[in-house]
Amino acid sequence: MTQEHPKSIIVIFGATGDLAKRKLFPSIYRLVQNEKIGKNFAVVGVARRPWTTDEFRSNVSDSIQSSMKESKDLEEFTSHFYYHPFDVTNPSSYLELNGLLTELDGTYQTEGNRIFYLAMAPEFFGTIAQNLKKEGLTDTNGWSRLVIEKPFGHDLPSARKLNQEIREAFNENQIYRIDHYLGKEMVQNIEVIRFANALFEPLWNNRYISNIQVTSSEILGVEDRGRYYENSGALRDMVQNHMLQMVALLAMEPPIKLTTDEIRSEKVKVLRALRAVAEDEVSQYFIRGQYGAGQLEDKQLVAYRDENNVDDNSQTETYVAGKLLIDNFRWAGVPFYIRTGKRMAAKSTKIVVQFKDIPMNLYYKKGETVPPNLLIIHIQPEEGITLQLNAKKDEDESGISKPVKLDLSNNFLDGINTPEAYEKLIYDCMRGDATNFTHWDEVALSWSFVDPISEAWTKGKAALASYPSGSMGPKEADDLLKEDGNQWWPVN
Ligand code: NAP
Repeated sequence: MTQEHPKSIIVIFGATGDLAKRKLFPSIYRLVQNEKIGKNFAVVGVARRPWTTDEFRSNVSDSIQSSMKESKDLEEFTSHFYYHPFDVTNPSSYLELNGLLTELDGTYQTEGNRIFYLAMAPEFFGTIAQNLKKEGLTDTNGWSRLVIEKPFGHDLPSARKLNQEIREAFNENQIYRIDHYLGKEMVQNIEVIRFANALFEPLWNNRYISNIQVTSSEILGVEDRGRYYENSGALRDMVQNHMLQMVALLAMEPPIKLTTDEIRSEKVKVLRALRAVAEDEVSQYFIRGQYGAGQLEDKQLVAYRDENNVDDNSQTETYVAGKLLIDNFRWAGVPFYIRTGKRMAAKSTKIVVQFKDIPMNLYYKKGETVPPNLLIIHIQPEEGITLQLNAKKDEDESGISKPVKLDLSNNFLDGINTPEAYEKLIYDCMRGDATNFTHWDEVALSWSFVDPISEAWTKGKAALASYPSGSMGPKEADDLLKEDGNQWWPVN
């Protein structure tokens, strides 16, 4: 059955910025090329720069040419793009924008449907949302949706304030909070791997799983985002959103149906069951680190404190490792270890599920342990799964089993990249599917969990460890697992 193409105008606030250029324009282009959207769409760019529509179109064209191997039909594609310069804090400009949207609605037959994509600094979110409502831009015959980028607040009180401002203009079901990890193919596949395989779900509990590890490491340092990062750090930038979202998907109960509400409700239950870490206990559960100078391959790398726009005495963490406990029947006693950082040895997002040891060791000498079974879910840059099993190898006559790896690589299978996360999320928003966006309840619970940790760190209640650039993080993070008799599994 062919699905009808969604119809909508997409207004991008911050259309001259980095996100629009690197992610949004190429994603919309791919949606058109892949025939997910047809002719009934228009994109209106808003920013202060006094560009003309022609200049805007040529920028869109450049962005696509620089990010795609092949770029055809560019002229036809960019003819759907319009530019409307104004300062979003100026309420009178919204009326003019409304006039343009109404006109384009007629030209492209978009049935009054509007997406307002806020690709701008969060301090503008509330103002834009309220002006859109006040000046009647959300008042059409069709639907209006608001897409918001991270960060959603700085802590629970600021997130709550931001949410209240937005909710004055939009209902919860009109708000699409982006967590681009939820658009990633293999993050979406966590549910499929778990709930569509007789092999895994019966084992997915504290009887058979020893621990679960989620790693998201970057090779890059803070680059030119020092100013932003100094006020954020890895805990707010990565843990509050992406890492906790992956934990929720790994730990949730099977939903009764694959609907947005049912899935969200199961994720929320996991976040509610996360054992809160009190300020005084933070150092037992969380390690923060900051990269020092180091070397990767033959490149010398500077310390975080020597990066541009970073304080010489910065206490900002560029690395976090943590041990999370989920107090429910399924997971009691199973640690979920998370770690994320910049300037690490590998660019990799991976989940490792370590199964418990077999009850008796027949294959190794006394004192030696049989290598555990591991299920590894590769999120990026590779996509796929690996299963580590033990099998006897004939050529080895020692009589003991050897670990073997069964690899299923999505990249390899398809021969093409799976759709870019933003492409999926924009398409989902156009179709009104909010499953892979974060609900306010998830945001609030995540901040409640994270806030005492950042409070403790601000008060200096835990040391800031250092790790050399190009390593896998501070030694203290290894010790965190060692105390439980566990170890990080390599990610490369
Ligand atoms: P950016 O490059 O700094 O772009 C900001 C945009 O806002 C520019 O187009 C700027 O254009 C516009 N702008 C600023 N003040 C304005 C005003 N008063 N009125 C109208 N337009 C104004 O930022 P970005 O990197 O694209 O990030 C945008 C949002 O996405 C942020 O919330 C960020 O945290 C989030 N995000 C970005 C990335 C990424 O990869 N870049 C990834 C995840 C999340 P003018 O200067 O022309 O006005």
